[in-house]
Parts: sequence; C-alpha cells; structure tokens
Amino acid sequence: MKQVHNFNAGPCVLPKEAIESAIEAIRDFDNTGIGVLEISHRTPGWERIMAETEQLWRDLLDIPEEYAVLFLGGGASTQFFNVPANLLNKKAAYLQTGVWAKKAIKEAKFYGEVEVVASSEDKNYTYIPKNYTIPQDADYFHITTNNTIYGTEIKEDMSCPTLLVADMSSDIMSRKVDIRKYALIYGGAQKNVGPAGVTFVIVRKDILGKVDRKLQTMVDYRTHIGDEPKNNSMFNTPPVFSIFVMHETLKWLKSLGGLDAMNKINKEKAETLYNEIDRNKMFVGTAQKEDRSIMNVCFVMAEQYKDKESDFMAFAKERGMVGIKGHRSVGGFRASIYNACPLESVKALVACMQEFEKLNA
Ligand SMILES: *Cc1c(COP(=O)(O)O)cnc(C)c1O
Repeated sequence: MKQVHNFNAGPCVLPKEAIESAIEAIRDFDNTGIGVLEISHRTPGWERIMAETEQLWRDLLDIPEEYAVLFLGGGASTQFFNVPANLLNKKAAYLQTGVWAKKAIKEAKFYGEVEVVASSEDKNYTYIPKNYTIPQDADYFHITTNNTIYGTEIKEDMSCPTLLVADMSSDIMSRKVDIRKYALIYGGAQKNVGPAGVTFVIVRKDILGKVDRKLQTMVDYRTHIGDEPKNNSMFNTPPVFSIFVMHETLKWLKSLGGLDAMNKINKEKAETLYNEIDRNKMFVGTAQKEDRSIMNVCFVMAEQYKDKESDFMAFAKERGMVGIKGHRSVGGFRASIYNACPLESVKALVACMQEFEKLNA
C-alpha cells in the first residue's frame, strides 16, 4: 500500500489497531461465525460492545452517573436542531466562532429567540471572542470548542451562568474535560473518535423534559435513554459498524494511557508544526496565536511567496502529504492532526516545509 501522511479534516486517519480489528470483525464478529456488518444488534455479543463503548467514554472522560451517553445517527448537524428542540423554551445564547457555529444558530432560530453574544466573523473567525456577557435568562449558552475550518480552539472549560452546551466534534478526547461544567456535549465521531455515521451526545439527564413543545419520538433525547428497561441508544437500529470502530478506537486511546497521555502527544504535534510555521519565512499561521487549535493547524504562504502556493501543494503531494488543502473560506493549507495522526506524519510535513524553503526562498 502507498505510504501517505493523512491530514484530512474528517473523516480522517484512524488508529491502525482499530482498522485491523474492524477488518477481522467484518469476517467474524466475536467468534460467532457472522461478521459485524451482518449480526443482529439484539444479541448479547453486540449488547456487550454497546455497554463497553459507553464505559470507555465514561472512563476516559470521567463522565458522572447523572449524565447519559448516547450514540445516535444524523451527524453533529442533526444536533444543531435536536439541541434547541430539547432545551430551548424562550431564548438561547450562542457564540459565533465559525461556520459550524453559524449553522447551529440558524437551526436554533426555528425554536425561539437566539442571542449571538459575540462573533469573530469580522476577522474571518481567526480568533475566539473574549469579554462578552452570557445572558443569565438564556435557556443555554452554545459554544463550538474547536473551529475545524479556522483552526481556533477554546481550550479551557468555562464557567457559565446558564446551561453550557458544546459542539466538541473536532476536539473531543483530545484533552480532559470537566464534564460537570457542561449540560450537554455533542459531536460527530469522524474527527477524533471513530468513522462517520455515529454521533455522540453526553447529556445531564435532569435538564430534559423541560420545554413546552411536543417532541417527535426520535428527536426527544429521553427516547434514546429510555426508562426501565433502558434503551441505551438502541431504541432503533444504531449505526452498528461505526460504533464498533469507535469502540476499537477508544480501546486504543485507553491503552495509550488515556487523555492526559493523548493531550501530551497532541501538544507536542501542534507545537512541532506551529514552531515550523513561525520559523519558516515562506509560511504564516492564520489563527491568532493564543487561540490556536491543537487539532487543526491553518497556514498560508507569506505575502511575498503567494505565487508559490500551488507549487508547495504539488511538492507536498509528491512526498505523500494528503488533505492539506485549506478550506475554501480560509485558503492556503490546513493540517488536521487529530489523535490518530502520528507525530511522524507531522515531522514529515515539517521536513517537507523546510526542504521547500531551501529550494525556493
Ligand atoms: C465536522 C463538524 C460538524 C459537522 O459534523 P457532521 O457530523 O458532518 O454533521 C459540526 N461541528 C464541527 C465543529 C465540526 O468539525
């Protein structure tokens, strides 16, 4: 197989170990003689995988008992309307830090008043707004912790006078999180915790059932939690294969030493790449330094080398770099260096930038 360094923004690189056991499980799941794509989700073997996956989430993130952990379909984009449907009675507050936040705002407006407390749209989302006031009378305050497209990140768990809701699609499991500061956390799995097809929702159970509107069965989070007997995300058929690969991905993460160990590696990767961007005279980073993401590193050619952009793209491609084209709204380059992206890939990209500088600057 061709040797590449995968910097795709999502879906993206997964741990080799997870891929290998997925391949095996497609042939034979749990010594049943049936592959994981073909088994019934109502079997003890599968119920064990569901329970273990939930336990891995609880162990890795230290999720307290009063929170439910759900695995749903529909992607993070479905949660853009599921969240307000379940939580917005009168007014919700949102922090607008990028395109994903803007999409979440659009959907919330179907359910009530939305106050955008601050936005960084004025500078193409290159920073995280600070010094804003969260209205206490809002039903909840919504943030996007990592802005995948612009490479900015809220790296600390903030205190919030109302329920705090976070889209953590692209930085979940990259660091420890103080779950108790949040009322609800959601995201698509396909950046840091698995393949596309499964969406995680961590929700404090006591905040549900408080809105006046009637909810469709599938929209109501309580359906997926279930009373006794519990539904455990199996009210309907769950995305079985995606959950299986997530299970294997989290097992890998745990074997690595969990989130503190992972965060240390992630910081080293990010530092290695940002240091090169700051040192190399041909490139500049686009995000404000203090808000730089450790997951998505965005950079462009320096002003005097603007005409070299496509040259560098071709140069990097020749050396096995995949997925480094920046999002069209930022331009330049973006290297997504999620959990499963090895340090060697980052070093290979840095070497590529240094070589390009030697030949061109
Ligand atoms: C990728 C992404 C989404 C969209 O996720 P889907 O699962 O494709 O709907 C939402 N928010 C953030 C921060 C993302 O990175």
